[in-house]
Amino acid sequence: MGINREWHLQNKMPKNATPEQRLWWHTEHRKHCQCRKLTEKMLEKMKKAVKERP
Ligand SMILES: [Zn+2]
Repeated sequence: MGINREWHLQNKMPKNATPEQRLWWHTEHRKHCQCRKLTEKMLEKMKKAVKERP
């Protein structure tokens, strides 16, 4: 378990993140940092939210 501080500083989640931004952030985060686990369920939820957006 490690936190990639540099990545976090460079990639801050916007306060009012859209589902797209959230999904992007978490997929990128998963590649660069292991400070928190992203479950498949969460990922599916986010993908669904993006799809269901008007
Ligand atoms: Zn992290």
